[in-house]
Amino acid sequence: MSSSFDVAIIGAGPAGSSAAYFLARAGVNVLLLDKATFPRDKTCGDGLIPRALPILAEMGVLDAITPHGWKLDTLEVSAPSGRTVRFTIPPLPHAPNYAVVMPRLELDNLLLQQAVKAGADFRGGVHVRGLQTDAQGVTVQVEQGNHAETFRATLAIVATGASTALLTSIGISAPKPNIVAARAYFEDIQSLPPYFQFRFDGVVLPGYGWVFPLSPTAANIGAGFIRTGKQAHHQSAQTAFNSFLQSYAIKSLLAGAKQAGTLRSFPIRTDFATAPTYASRVLLVGEAAGLVNPLTGDGIDFALESGKIAAEHIRHMLRLGDVSPAQLQTYDTMLRGRYQDLFRFSGQVSRWSLNPRALNTLVPLAAARPRLPEVLVNILLGAKPAPEKMSILRIVKGVASRL
Ligand SMILES: Cc1cc2nc3c(=O)[nH]c(=O)nc-3n(C[C@H](O)[C@H](O)[C@H](O)COP(=O)(O)OP(=O)(O)OC[C@H]3O[C@@H](n4cnc5c(N)ncnc54)[C@H](O)[C@@H]3O)c2cc1C
Repeated sequence: MSSSFDVAIIGAGPAGSSAAYFLARAGVNVLLLDKATFPRDKTCGDGLIPRALPILAEMGVLDAITPHGWKLDTLEVSAPSGRTVRFTIPPLPHAPNYAVVMPRLELDNLLLQQAVKAGADFRGGVHVRGLQTDAQGVTVQVEQGNHAETFRATLAIVATGASTALLTSIGISAPKPNIVAARAYFEDIQSLPPYFQFRFDGVVLPGYGWVFPLSPTAANIGAGFIRTGKQAHHQSAQTAFNSFLQSYAIKSLLAGAKQAGTLRSFPIRTDFATAPTYASRVLLVGEAAGLVNPLTGDGIDFALESGKIAAEHIRHMLRLGDVSPAQLQTYDTMLRGRYQDLFRFSGQVSRWSLNPRALNTLVPLAAARPRLPEVLVNILLGAKPAPEKMSILRIVKGVASRL
C-alpha cells in the first residue's frame, strides 16, 4: 500500500465512511483509518431518522438497510408525569416519512464496505496518535500494536466521534461531551408497540429514555442524562439506565423479556453551535464537530451529511490547489449556514427538558393540538427551516392561535 494520499480520514463511523465514499467515488486518493477492526459495534439507539435516509440512498445502501431494519412511522413521547402524546411522522418533501432501526454493528460495516468498493483504502486496528501539518501537507502518526508508522496526505478529515483525544493532541479545544447514555438490546418482548418511544418519565432528569423496536419482539432500550454539574457525583449512564428499567412503563414492557448482550454506555457531544470545525489542513466532520441534535440525540444523519459536504469542499479545494485558511473558513460557513439555526432551535427546546414542569405542560398541549408536534417534527427533520428568531413560547402561541 502507498503511504501518500490526497486525503487521510481518521475514523470510519458514518461521517468518515461517507466522506471516504464521496471522495473515492470522485477519483480522489483516500486513506481511511480506524482504531477498531470491523465489523465493530458503536453504542447507539440505532435509529435512522427520515433525514438520514436520502443520503443512504445516494450512497447506494438504502436497499440493503430496509430489509433488515424495521420501518416505523409513529413516535410516542411521555412527560415526566406519565402523560403521553403519540403522532405519526407527517409527509416530508425530501425524505420518506418513516424511520428505520438497524444495529450499528451492521450499518457501519455496510457503509465502510461501500466506501471501500468506491475505492477508499481502509486500514482497521490502527490508532491515530497525532497529526502534524506543514506547508506541503499532513503527517498522520499511527500505532498498530507495537508498530508505529506514518502516512502523508494533502489534507486530513477527523471523524473520531465523541472522543476528543485526537482533537486535543492537535490543539483543537473541544468541550467535554455533555450527555452520557447507556443502552442494551432486549429480546422476547411480548407486546412491543410498533412505534418509537421517547420517554421523560422514570428517568434521571434532565435526561431521557428510549425504546426503539428492531423487530416485533426485540428493541434497543436506553437512557441518558444531560450533565449539568448539579447531579450527584455517583450519577452515571448506568445508574440512569437502571432507574429507567425500574420505571413502571419499562418494567411492565420487559416482563418475561431477556437482555441480549451487555449494557454499554458512551458520551455524546451536541456542541456544534460553538464547536471548531477545522484546523490547518484538517476538516472535522460528524460528532467530532459536535453534530448531534441536542434535543433528539440523532447524529448519524448529520455525520453522513457533513461527510459529504466535506468531501465536496475538499474536491473543490484540490481542484483549485488552494488549501488556505480562507477555504477552510468557507467549509465552516457552509456547515453553519446549514445547521446553525437548527442547532440553536433544538438547544432552546431541549432546555425544556431541564424543567419537568415545562415538559408536563408541553406534552398534554401537543396531545390536544396535533399541529404542534407536526411543526416541531418538520423543523427537526429539516423539512421546514428552523425559525431564526422564534422562541418556543412564540411557536406554541402561534400554533394555538391557528387552531
Ligand atoms: C447511547 C447513544 C445513543 C444514540 N442514539 C442515536 C440514534 O438512535 N440515532 C442517531 O442518529 N444517533 C444516535 N446517537 C449519536 C450517534 O451514535 C453519533 O452521532 C454517530 O455515531 C456519529 O458518527 P461519527 O461517524 O461522527 O462518529 P462515530 O460513529 O463515533 O465513529 C468514530 C470512529 O472513529 C474511530 N476513532 C476514534 N478515535 C480514533 C483514533 N484516534 N484513531 C483511529 N480511529 C479512531 C472510532 O473507533 C469510531 O469507529 C447516539 C449516541 C449514543 C452514545
